[in-house]
Amino acid sequence: MAQKDRPRRCPICGRAASLEAKPFCSPRCAQVDLGRWLTGAYAIPATEEEPGSAEDDEEAR
Ligand SMILES: [Zn+2]
Repeated sequence: MAQKDRPRRCPICGRAASLEAKPFCSPRCAQVDLGRWLTGAYAIPATEEEPGSAEDDEEAR
């Protein structure tokens, strides 16, 4: 826990991060990273745990 504000590198372009857009070098790279994140999130199927009891309901009525 002795880590202070060390000069980080932008994970997008590898430049030194700026204070206004930590840990990125600029708001732009932050946007890029966010975009990747969202893209990945969207790629995850969210209907995996959907309870398929709609049909069961009709039969077990
Ligand atoms: Zn950058």
